[in-house]
Amino acid sequence: MTPASPTRYDLDRDELATLLAGTPRYRVDQVWNGLYTRLGEPDTWTDLPKALRAELTTRLPSALHPVTESASDHGDTVKFLWELDGGSRIETVLMLYRDRATVCISSQAGCAMACGFCATGQAGFTRHLSVGEIVEQVVRATERARAVDRRVSNVVFMGMGEPLANEATVWAAVERIHGDLGLSARHITISTVGIVPGIRALAERPLPVNLAVSLHAANDSRRDELVPINRRYPIDDLIDACRDYLQVRNRRISFEWAMIDGVNDRDSDARELAALCRRLRPAAHVNLIPLNPTPGYPTQGSSLARVHEFRDLLETLGANATVRQNRGTEIDAACGQLAAGQPVSVTPRPVRVSAAPTR
Ligand code: SAH
Repeated sequence: MTPASPTRYDLDRDELATLLAGTPRYRVDQVWNGLYTRLGEPDTWTDLPKALRAELTTRLPSALHPVTESASDHGDTVKFLWELDGGSRIETVLMLYRDRATVCISSQAGCAMACGFCATGQAGFTRHLSVGEIVEQVVRATERARAVDRRVSNVVFMGMGEPLANEATVWAAVERIHGDLGLSARHITISTVGIVPGIRALAERPLPVNLAVSLHAANDSRRDELVPINRRYPIDDLIDACRDYLQVRNRRISFEWAMIDGVNDRDSDARELAALCRRLRPAAHVNLIPLNPTPGYPTQGSSLARVHEFRDLLETLGANATVRQNRGTEIDAACGQLAAGQPVSVTPRPVRVSAAPTR
């Protein structure tokens, strides 16, 4: 179910003009400027007549109804919990660093991919988000950053949901974030569990966004367990799609790897992973993520010492790797912890793989 009526950031410029039929074009441009440059509520856009501001408040409703905002890392990580029309809940995380500010946004309420170690996967899928629901997350985070004199420099689709299962909408949002909010496509990253047709669709799109692939295992039998969609899009097909993406984009691809004790942190895993990285030109970069605890996955994360050893081993094997700095663990805002307060099932739901080719 998607929202019944368009919200503030669902409309493009022409649709906005249609909605405000009878309003002079220069006024429509001022409204657009309010939405994408001034930000905030329409009643603060004082270049517009009062009557129009009042009309906008009712006719351009916001998509995100704030439920809670929590902060950690001395205020440098902020998690927003929003309620959407229809009652679903999603989360957005703003991370302030010395040299950049990144907002991590959701593309779906819940997720159907059923990765057992991820809280969103444990909670299951509710619905796709609309363009307006995606774009407004960036707008709200930008307002929050402005309040502390910062500007959002990077957007990552690493919140709830699988962006390439909602590719057309995600792409429309990317264009709005790039063209209207003014963020460079090179500072936008789409992270995918490895939906091969989605990667191919992305390769046809005109902007050079970064691609991150949640790999977590470098052989099919282990990856089938950790990332069930691998049964439909096995590693060889995934690497082929990544290679084709690289050919048209010429940007580096990164592999994400949550470090799980005894599951994917052995020396043999590093060797297999390094070999996969080398199949791409330029070689893929590995982001090692210390496993964050989630209610439905009892296996421990690797020790930090092991995470660093694994990184060193990868480097020795010719693969570049960095250990991702964990943000927001104590407010459940870190990678894989976003569940928007949903109960999670202890046995992850099986992902539907009926369309799987036999192999
Ligand atoms: N569905 C997309 C977007 C989510 S990004 C994707 O899978 O890429 C969130 C990242 O955090 C993914 O790389 C995901 O695999 C990883 N992750 C999930 N659960 C985690 C956990 N418990 N600890 C660390 N990383 C986790």
